[in-house]
Amino acid sequence: MSTAIVTGSASGIGAAVKSRFEKNGDNVIGIDIKDADIIADLSTKEGRASAISSVKQRCDAIDRLILCAGLATYIRPPSLIVSVNYFGTTELLDGLFDLLQLGNTPAAIVILSNSAQWLSLSDSAYVQALLHHDEARAIQIIDEHEDIALAAGIAYVGTKHALGRVVRRRALLWGKAGVRLNAVAPGNTNTPMFQAVMQDPVTGEGVRNMEIPLGRLAEPDEIANLIAFLCCEEAAYIHGGIYYIDGGGDALIRPDSF
Ligand code: NAD
Repeated sequence: MSTAIVTGSASGIGAAVKSRFEKNGDNVIGIDIKDADIIADLSTKEGRASAISSVKQRCDAIDRLILCAGLATYIRPPSLIVSVNYFGTTELLDGLFDLLQLGNTPAAIVILSNSAQWLSLSDSAYVQALLHHDEARAIQIIDEHEDIALAAGIAYVGTKHALGRVVRRRALLWGKAGVRLNAVAPGNTNTPMFQAVMQDPVTGEGVRNMEIPLGRLAEPDEIANLIAFLCCEEAAYIHGGIYYIDGGGDALIRPDSF
């Protein structure tokens, strides 16, 4: 029986991943701010440390780590998006690397978004602050924006962009340690988060009118299926990659980039 740790397990994609793995007979430990095996607030350093130590109290090794917890652009203040999406992901990723190395065919997945390359943020001071793990500076940059909706959009896309680089930068170290690490980049997915995004007075109309080549939202189970495949033994040579699952949304917006 594999042991899987899933953040954001109370809702949406995380909940679908938890039930997908449980159907396989895995021992799944969910982490969330509510309705979870381990209750932790990943927006704070203390909450992240407590989540890591709670996992270590329960397990000597972990086989799967799926980091889904995240907040979307309608959340205020936007600095919470920075803290949960980026720091709540990277600190658990690195904090549980030692237990993953003791696991059986271990694999970890970080959830990005198909929007991770949609703003030109790669050289921005904000993304550099994220990559330098400087939470105070990253929050300061977001807080300085006068337009709060723009700040939230930059906060969100920047976290997802930086997380992609976090995955790629760890490919050598993690690969040598025998732990596969990949990212999944979903498009608009039918979850409580996306329902709230569609109803948001600022971004809702644009999102509702967004064209998707396959003509529909993803279901959370479809994202969970890709995650389950990337974690299974048939995917043993898949490592350091970023896998879009968005009905063609990113291809429509960036047809000449990949
Ligand atoms: P969701 O809101 O349904 O689930 C997110 C979960 O994260 C919730 O259970 C929530 O309680 C948890 N969470 C939020 N703040 C937390 C905190 N401080 N501490 C601990 N847990 C916290 O959202 P979802 O749509 O399932 O999103 C899951 C992931 O997928 C996110 O990282 C999101 O950015 C990404 N994503 C979603 C979509 C989409 O359209 N739904 C698209 C692209 C990427």
